[in-house]
Amino acid sequence: MKVIPPREGVAFALRKGQRLIVVDPEGEQVSDLVAYSSADLEEVISSGRTLDYLSRLFLRLGDPIYSNRSRVMLRIEEDTVGRHDFLLTPCSADTFRIIYGHTEPHGGCHGNLTQALAPWGISGDRIPVAFNIFMHVRIDGESGELKVLPPKSRAGDRIVFHAEMDLVIGLTACSAEQSNNYTFKPIHYDIF
Ligand SMILES: [Zn+2]
Repeated sequence: MKVIPPREGVAFALRKGQRLIVVDPEGEQVSDLVAYSSADLEEVISSGRTLDYLSRLFLRLGDPIYSNRSRVMLRIEEDTVGRHDFLLTPCSADTFRIIYGHTEPHGGCHGNLTQALAPWGISGDRIPVAFNIFMHVRIDGESGELKVLPPKSRAGDRIVFHAEMDLVIGLTACSAEQSNNYTFKPIHYDIF
């Protein structure tokens, strides 16, 4: 199993037919995932398309994740947690400045993804809403108010994605205090 140290990120190729396993080794740790089609990096994971076509805010076992071109990029093949977020952008220095009021904010998933995806020529402005693995957001059905709660994941919990096309994946160990119950932990992953 490969390791993403706390508050870092990686990027790698994932071929059609391969599987990506993402494990929370210690519990209560979020991992942001973004995906691009390696055939054309303008084709990218789309929260809007996916939630629209599923008519649901929370993805489940077997659900597809669509691209901005309405093609299936990934499918959830195994999931021991069952609660993830697909609404919020990767955390960033701006997140910490605006939401937390930090005057000297540290970096976040957005910066880590930008750095990891630079070898593919993908700039920070092209990083979309991520599929936020293990992120637990409670949504009030009437007001739409969002509340970020500690992840439901416990040590060893996992999710497995099946690649439906050749992809470039960006993956982080999230740096946002609230999202990870105020401790920063590693994420494990592997391709098989
Ligand atoms: Zn983050």
